[in-house]
Amino acid sequence: MTLFEKIIAREIPAEIVFEDDQCLAFRDISPQAPIHILIIPKKTIARIAAAQADDQSLLGHLLLTAAEIARRENIAPAGYRLVINNGPHGGETVPHLHIHLLGGRHLNWPPG
Ligand code: 5GP
Repeated sequence: MTLFEKIIAREIPAEIVFEDDQCLAFRDISPQAPIHILIIPKKTIARIAAAQADDQSLLGHLLLTAAEIARRENIAPAGYRLVINNGPHGGETVPHLHIHLLGGRHLNWPPG
């Protein structure tokens, strides 16, 4: 089981901010912005490169959920960033697909 599967199974604690039948969202343990939330599918998909055509609806749901959480966290008016790290050069450290929702401060571009 990956770390995030253990969070889904409640074997590891996390500050969960949203859950439905398809996904879970919880605060990042090492926040890089005042709001830093991870949105993950309950289905085990290692990374976006491993997603299949039949995951299309789930992937859309994850994005719409991220936007809804941003509204609930009151960061939507000022803006925010969604990030998916994929593979070693992308900075992926946990092999379970996750969208980073970052906001609450101005974020620089381009990223490092
Ligand atoms: P990645 O680097 O794979 O894109 O993102 C993994 C994220 O998971 C990192 O931002 C890291 O801080 C977060 N993370 C790692 N371990 C834990 C944990 O045990 N709990 C929570 N809430 N976040 C974690």
